[in-house]
Amino acid sequence: MDYGFETLAIHAGQEPDPRTGAVIPPIYQTSTYAQDAVGSPRLGYEYSRSGNPTRDALQEALAALEGGRTGLTFASGLAAEDTLLRTVCQPGDHVVIPDDAYGGTYRLFSRVAERWGLNWTAAKVSDPDAVAAAIRPGHTRIVWVETPTNPLLGIADIAALAGLAHDAEALLVVDNTFASPYLQQPIAHGADVVVHSTTKYIGGHSDVVGGALVAADAELGERLAYHQNAMGAINGPFDAWLTLRGLKTLGVRMDRHCDNAERIADYLATHAGVAEVLYPGRAEHPGHEVAAKQMRRFGGMISFRAAGGEEHAVRICNSTQLFVLAESLGGVESLIEHPGRMTHASAAGSPLEVPADLVRLSVGIETADDLLADLERALG
Ligand SMILES: *Cc1c(COP(=O)(O)O)cnc(C)c1O
Repeated sequence: MDYGFETLAIHAGQEPDPRTGAVIPPIYQTSTYAQDAVGSPRLGYEYSRSGNPTRDALQEALAALEGGRTGLTFASGLAAEDTLLRTVCQPGDHVVIPDDAYGGTYRLFSRVAERWGLNWTAAKVSDPDAVAAAIRPGHTRIVWVETPTNPLLGIADIAALAGLAHDAEALLVVDNTFASPYLQQPIAHGADVVVHSTTKYIGGHSDVVGGALVAADAELGERLAYHQNAMGAINGPFDAWLTLRGLKTLGVRMDRHCDNAERIADYLATHAGVAEVLYPGRAEHPGHEVAAKQMRRFGGMISFRAAGGEEHAVRICNSTQLFVLAESLGGVESLIEHPGRMTHASAAGSPLEVPADLVRLSVGIETADDLLADLERALG
């Protein structure tokens, strides 16, 4: 389909129900499907772990929005990651991961996949030379990047890393959770697989946990689909439906997230209580040029370092009224958190430990003046 992004978000995979005309894909809350004769399911549906029409609608929409061949959805972002790892890798293989990966991703690699036999190296993915040095030709199966990274908002050059990965016959996997496909489409820059925590911007309303994989290539897509069924970490029909409902407004929500974040980043940059603002939309950000090349805009996530150190950072997090003190991100409401003690506590003492004075904001779509006034009060 040659439609624009917002049209695809509303229509791809979501034709009116052929039987009833229902405009919105129904929640097919069923575990199994009647067959007309032995071995003859009506539309190919036999059992809902293997296939469910509500999940199919979401999967098709996500594949269209990322420009990939196959979309697959899961019970959580980490379930998607685990399925991808164990589809592509075998014990003894090696992967390169970001040195400031999402804490849960780091835990999956370091505490679960490593025990299963996977080797990994953490590298600064904003530096292609560091990634090149971490690749072990013949052993590295995946170069795994987030861009922007969580929580330091580092930017990886997707096209450059795709070249490095492919030269070593590895796959480039991009966790596109922070940008969403509205702001960035990694497959167009050479990525092989896109990973999402759909819990975040794609769902967009902080009411459902889910994950997704989109494969650029149909053959890899088929292997992933086989493992989605064989490993069974699927999302249920109601969760798929909620996620699809959120997806329809992704474009308008992202534009407002970006509008608000740009204003807040500019405000923080002038505040005496802030030592450093990390936002790829600002010209002084080291990844600004690469971000401008591969992203439509710069997203709703901002991190900053409190001038008064860790205690100051914690005090700011405890003092906002509109910004809710909570983990997660990407919902319509603004959130604030202290990564060192919250989302990234599991990385303490590791190469992925984050600065103790760091505060992370997920800027929501409330009235920008209200958000600025809330931060003004909390920063004192
Ligand atoms: C939240 C998150 C994940 C994990 O997703 P879940 O849905 O919580 O399992 C992975 N990557 C990033 C960047 C995230 O923010």
